[in-house]
Amino acid sequence: MIDRVFDILIKDGELIDGLGTPRYKSDLGIEKDKIVAIGQLSHAKARKTINAKNLIVSPGFIDVHTHDDNLIFHDRSMKPKTSQGVTSVIVGNCGISLAPLILNKDKVPPPPQDLLGDRESYIYPTFADYRTSIEKRPPATNVGFLAGHGTLRICSMTDTNRPAKSSEIDKMQYLLAESMNSGGMGISTGLIYGPNKSASLDEITAVTEVAADYDGIYTTHMRDEGEHINEAMEEAFLIGQRTSIPVIISHHKCMGKSNFGRSTDTLGRINHAKMMHTVGLDAYPYTAASTVIIPEMVAISERVIITWSDTHPDFSGHDLDYIANKMKCRKEEAAAALIPGGAIYFLMSESDVQNILKHPDTMIGSDGLPNDVHPHPRLWGTFPRVIGHYARDIGIFSLEEAIRKMTSLSASYFKIKKRGELTPGSYADVVLFDPTTIKDASTYENPKAPAIGIHKVIVNGQVVFDEGKTGHKRPGIPLLK
Ligand SMILES: [Zn+2]
Repeated sequence: MIDRVFDILIKDGELIDGLGTPRYKSDLGIEKDKIVAIGQLSHAKARKTINAKNLIVSPGFIDVHTHDDNLIFHDRSMKPKTSQGVTSVIVGNCGISLAPLILNKDKVPPPPQDLLGDRESYIYPTFADYRTSIEKRPPATNVGFLAGHGTLRICSMTDTNRPAKSSEIDKMQYLLAESMNSGGMGISTGLIYGPNKSASLDEITAVTEVAADYDGIYTTHMRDEGEHINEAMEEAFLIGQRTSIPVIISHHKCMGKSNFGRSTDTLGRINHAKMMHTVGLDAYPYTAASTVIIPEMVAISERVIITWSDTHPDFSGHDLDYIANKMKCRKEEAAAALIPGGAIYFLMSESDVQNILKHPDTMIGSDGLPNDVHPHPRLWGTFPRVIGHYARDIGIFSLEEAIRKMTSLSASYFKIKKRGELTPGSYADVVLFDPTTIKDASTYENPKAPAIGIHKVIVNGQVVFDEGKTGHKRPGIPLLK
């Protein structure tokens, strides 16, 4: 024991273990990709010693809701994420995944598939290919993947504007089984989106059963997050009950002024459903949503900002009010003219956002859109904003609780083993940050500003972010079911 030499020794930090335990002073020793010692290690030897005085040492954050499917190959440093302390991302959310879709030369990805990238991005005929690509050219963070039901429908149906026939359901089941056999975590739906919205409850249940057979999970961007949110939640819970699969409500919110204040009721419904089967939820810390351009969402939004547009690229970053004025038409018409494109929609109340963030089963997921020209600030700011703004400045929960929501809670719902906590034997995914300065810096006007206060980020025992710099280490691995 005396001769032990750690690869990395983190000294004199305040440890928050991710499990909700109050912080305590401790050192932490890493060997290869694992945490091997926690305690008083002041006389231990190490190849690299990091002084963590006045810093919090916590498990790396798990971003459970991302659309980083393509970012992991195009910016392997994963700077929007590592600069926030994120060490693992889950891709394939909202019914949208890169695999197993191949698009012919004359085809463009139908919305919302286009938010992941253009036609050249769709080059993974199977999830095994997608996983192999991660293993061959790994990013800086770990990656878990879901199969998107919208994508499975595009692959299996000649026309997605109707419920699937039984032969088409067979095909989707086959494709989903391939994903699960390749280490997929489960299935996601995006039931507001064109390719996915004609899926019936029976179809979703039949396909999801395959994920349940493999002990996977079901995440859902529900059919409605406004007026008919209760019916949409009922549908999600029914799928959970029928298949015995854990259900995760994605980016939970109550959209539109007439639905402000309904979160008390929706969270009550989640609590009730939880008595029957496993239900969880994720959320991001902002009152504005963001997705592709959907003209019907304009009417329920107080403000709309265009994040990208193929037809009018110069309008990226501009308010729809301004654009409609320039185009001399109604806002809905202007929005329609900008498709294909993306937008930010201001349509939530601050008190609902806080209410939802505070729920003990709410995980943090950025829902960031890295392909957007002028993205929603959540892409670069989500995790430091929850810690700096909501935990420290406003005090809606303790720092320990904030960390639990981005680490152990997420690992447990997504069945990720040996991550999301600082315990001996766990993978060495670790973040060091200053609790007095941590803060999101990205804004709606300047959305790509890296957060402040994140000092060091370690993934599988290797430093991937160091005092503002990303370096050349790419130690991420696929998080396999
Ligand atoms: Zn979504």
